[in-house]
Amino acid sequence: IFLFNGKEKICCIGSKMIEGGELMEKRFNDVQIECVTGDIANQTDISAVVNAANAVLKSGGGVAGALHRAAGPELAEAGKPIAPIQPGQAVITQAFALPNDYVIHCLGPVYGVDKPESSLLRQCCQHAIRLAEENKIRNIAFPSISTGAFGYPMEEAAEIAVDEVVKQTKHLRFALFSEKDEEIF
Ligand code: ADP
Repeated sequence: IFLFNGKEKICCIGSKMIEGGELMEKRFNDVQIECVTGDIANQTDISAVVNAANAVLKSGGGVAGALHRAAGPELAEAGKPIAPIQPGQAVITQAFALPNDYVIHCLGPVYGVDKPESSLLRQCCQHAIRLAEENKIRNIAFPSISTGAFGYPMEEAAEIAVDEVVKQTKHLRFALFSEKDEEIF
């Protein structure tokens, strides 16, 4: 499918199965965005995965639980000296038993509590991508930060996250938990 609205070329290059899930690739001008319906803890071809972390960088539910379970207890140990973090902040650790080199831990805003939510969510994306660049990370996968326990509506969060990453980088993956979430992204 190829769409052109005068300003923007949007080219859907199709979907394929990879180990981490079903992958949909889209190109917005020269930016390539991949969306996978799959587990952020199983992105085997990715150098850095982003954690929708809690402030104390410990295991929990959702993304943090999945990443900590797969990484092993060293991940929480590695977080201890750098915790707590603030909403919008990102920090980096090794990935231990995960199939990745690094975990970039972002603390998203709690919807309705940490304000302004939209700029804090943007900051998460910016800081994560900056850390990836500083560490010469070749590719990165994000979950949908703040849209689980932190209550951010998926449509609003998707709009912000995609808008921000398209400004910041040329190639990025979103690992989303359900097909519905992938469609929204
Ligand atoms: P937050 O506390 O930032 O809201 P959560 O981990 O509770 O983070 O949820 C963030 C999003 O990630 C939600 O949309 C949730 O459905 C999704 N999610 C949960 N587990 C996983 C996983 N293993 N891989 C990818 N996405 C996940």
